[in-house]
Amino acid sequence: MRFYFSIFLLLFTTSYMSCQSEPEHVDYFANNAFGNPIVGNAGEYYKGVTYITYQGEKEDPFVAAYNHAEKKWIGPFKAGTSVLGKKPGKKIDNHGKPTLILDNEGYIHVVFGGHGGSRALGENALGNYNGGKQIHVKTKNPLDISSWEEVDNISPFGTYSQFLKMANGDIYLFYRHGAHRSNWVYQVTKDNGITFSPPVSFLKTKPVEDSTMTNTYDSWYTDLKIGNSNEILVSYNYHLCRSINNVHIGERHHCYFMVFDTAKNEWRNIKEETLKIPLTKEYADKMTLAVNTGSRWNHIGSIGLSHDGFPIISWYEGADNKTRHGAPKQLVNYQWDGSKWIGGNTNLPVEARGEMYIDEDNNLGYLLDSNNNTEGELAWWKSYKSLNQFDKTQALYSHEGSKFLMSNFTRNAHDDARILVTQKIKGTPYSRIYLLGENGPITRIKNEAITIKLD
Ligand code: ZN
Repeated sequence: MRFYFSIFLLLFTTSYMSCQSEPEHVDYFANNAFGNPIVGNAGEYYKGVTYITYQGEKEDPFVAAYNHAEKKWIGPFKAGTSVLGKKPGKKIDNHGKPTLILDNEGYIHVVFGGHGGSRALGENALGNYNGGKQIHVKTKNPLDISSWEEVDNISPFGTYSQFLKMANGDIYLFYRHGAHRSNWVYQVTKDNGITFSPPVSFLKTKPVEDSTMTNTYDSWYTDLKIGNSNEILVSYNYHLCRSINNVHIGERHHCYFMVFDTAKNEWRNIKEETLKIPLTKEYADKMTLAVNTGSRWNHIGSIGLSHDGFPIISWYEGADNKTRHGAPKQLVNYQWDGSKWIGGNTNLPVEARGEMYIDEDNNLGYLLDSNNNTEGELAWWKSYKSLNQFDKTQALYSHEGSKFLMSNFTRNAHDDARILVTQKIKGTPYSRIYLLGENGPITRIKNEAITIKLD
C-alpha cells in the first residue's frame, strides 16, 4: 500500500513541478541603492557567504548576504541610521557610504555616515567640519545580518571611512578626520572591534607654505590596499584646497607612495627609508613623491602589488582647467622596477574607471566601467607588453542605461562574487545593485529583488 502511495506521490510531485513555471529572475539583488551607493571596501567572503554593504534609502547603510552553497540571498537589512540624508529636498551628500568587515569571531562591522562631522559633536583637533557623523555598528550576533547595534568607540569626524583587515585579525579603520582641511588618520582594533586606538595621523593638513596664498591649505586623497603580509600600501595625491570667488577648486596633482608595516608600526618610502608621520607637503615631496604630474590635474586611482613585490600606482589624469573637477581624465599607471617608476599614459578609454588586478602570470589588468551612450559595460583589460598598452580581453557584464559604479574587489572573494556594482534607474535617485563574479551576476527572484516600489 505504502509503495503505491509513494509512486502516486512521486508522479503527483513531478507533474506538479513541471506545471509550475520558474519564478522570474533578475540580475540585481535589490533596487533601493541610493545616490552614488558604493565605494571602496564594501564586501567580504567568509565561511561560504558573501557579505556586502551599500548606501540605501535616506543614505542609511544596508547589508545583504549571499550563501553560495544554498544559492540563497539574505536581506538586505538596514544596519544603522545616518545623520545624512534626512532633510527632504536636500542634495544627496554621498560621502557617508558604508564600509564593511568581519572580525575573527564572525561579527560584521559597518562604518558609515561621515562627512567631517559638525561642531555640535565636539572639538575636532585634527581638522575642520562639514556634516554627518561617522558611526560604527556591528551585528548583535555572529554571521547574522538581521539585527545591529551602534558601538560608540570611534571618532565622529570621519570622511571616506575604509576598513582593512590584516592576516592576524587586526582591523584598521582609515579615514580623513573631517572635511578637506583635515589630517588622514587610522584607528586600529586588536580585539575584534570592541576597542579602537585613538586616531593616529599619517598625512597632515596645514596652510600652504607660500604665505602670499591666503586661506589655502595642503590636503590629500588616498588609496589603501593590503600588500605583502603585514603591510598596507598607500598611494595619495595632493589637493591644493582653496576657493576662487567663493567657488571651491578641485585641483589635485601628483602621486605619492609609501608603505605602512603594521607589524613593526613603521612607515617607509619606496627606498625603504623610515618616515616620520604625519607627513607634511614638503616632507612628502622630499621622501614619497613617485610622479610629478606638473600642471595636469588628477583623481587618485587604485594601487596594487605585482607577484614579485613591486608596487603599481594609478590615477586618472587630464588637462588643467578651471572647471570644478578639471578636464576629462584618462588612466595613467606606473610600476616600480627596483630603481625607478616606469609607465605613463595608457590607451584605456577616457573617463573609464575601475579596479586594478594582477593575474596568475603577473600581467597587470583592470576591470573598467564604460558607457557608449546607451549601455553601461564592465570589461577586463589586460597589458601583456607594456604599462601603456592594454587590450580588452573580456566583457564581464553590460546593461542598457548609464555607467556602472563599482566597489573595490570583495575581500577574500568567491569566484562568483568578485565585485559589487550599481546602475542608476532612470528618472529616480535609486540604483539597481548587482553582485558580479566570473559567471556574471548572481541572480535573484524578481519579487525579492524589488525592495522598494519605484512607480
Ligand atoms: Zn578643498
